[in-house]
Amino acid sequence: MRYAQSVVELIGNTPLVKLGPLAADVAPLVLAKVEYVNPGGSVKDRIAVKMIDAAEQSGALRPGGTIVEPTSGNTGVGLALVAQQRGYRCIFICPDKVSEDKRNVLRAYGAEVVVCPTAVAPDDPTSYYSVSDRLVRETPGAWKPDQYSNPNNPASHYVSTGPEIWRDTDGKITHFVTGVGTGGTISGVGRYLKDVSGGRVQVIGADPEGSVYSGGTGRPYLVEGVGEDFWPSAYDPTVTDGIIAISDAESFAVTRRLAREEGLLVGGSCGMAVAAALRLAGRLTADDVVVVLLPDGGRGYLSKIFSDPWMASYGFLSRDGEATVGQVLR
Ligand code: PMP
Repeated sequence: MRYAQSVVELIGNTPLVKLGPLAADVAPLVLAKVEYVNPGGSVKDRIAVKMIDAAEQSGALRPGGTIVEPTSGNTGVGLALVAQQRGYRCIFICPDKVSEDKRNVLRAYGAEVVVCPTAVAPDDPTSYYSVSDRLVRETPGAWKPDQYSNPNNPASHYVSTGPEIWRDTDGKITHFVTGVGTGGTISGVGRYLKDVSGGRVQVIGADPEGSVYSGGTGRPYLVEGVGEDFWPSAYDPTVTDGIIAISDAESFAVTRRLAREEGLLVGGSCGMAVAAALRLAGRLTADDVVVVLLPDGGRGYLSKIFSDPWMASYGFLSRDGEATVGQVLR
């Protein structure tokens, strides 16, 4: 019999799939690393298990302890999943702009969710930041992973995601492209690929237009999970060879094409990363092998990116119902 001891063992070892129609007009082989097949549905399962393992080893998280983290999305799911398997309590702090569906996903895994108003200053006692600090102080046995500064966030990608890519491409990868949020993925995978290839593999970040990584000021954008308005310490800018900024319109157009033409129902940051990968691939040759990481699935975005009225309300649909900008890449 062949089976996992628990769902935690199913994290990682995600597959690579060749992009077909979307990459038809570029010379290199473009391979997508599909992270939604992780049990919690995203790349963030990897950092959850590594951050928890390390906190157990250091004694920061003890039996019966409580994980407290301001997160509303994929990191929360990963943490909740590992926590329930190991008997920890989870409290997540979410701004009120986070949809009820997303909060219910966290509750479904057994986490407690505290909702805070978005429209208050960071130093207001009811703010997202104040409440999470207070909960860490007041909850006995509390531990805050803090994915933005936790070195085990990039370290998880150094020991799992990076080696998997190297192994599955037989060391033939020439370029790695990924979106940058906390910076954990690009820093960990990028560092591993640089180390193992003697600096040969090029590491390219994809960033929403307006975010700090591509020189913006943190101006709002709609793509979720990527871009920042500050520089997290999980991000190591020395591994990045370049950053490509992608508009919301292009990110969403490519996201819709991934579902319709490649059978990959994925999130908006995946469309953004693929848009950047295709732009890069357009300048490369048939000797190159580009790997682009797709962080999560598309089910959480059905009422946004995959909704025509929502897309139209932001001017992202043309009159014939095609997502605008996507065609530019053909
Ligand atoms: N896409 C999505 C949907 C995410 O949740 C995240 C994580 N914030 C990223 C991309 C970026 O990954 P990282 O934090 O490792 O930079």
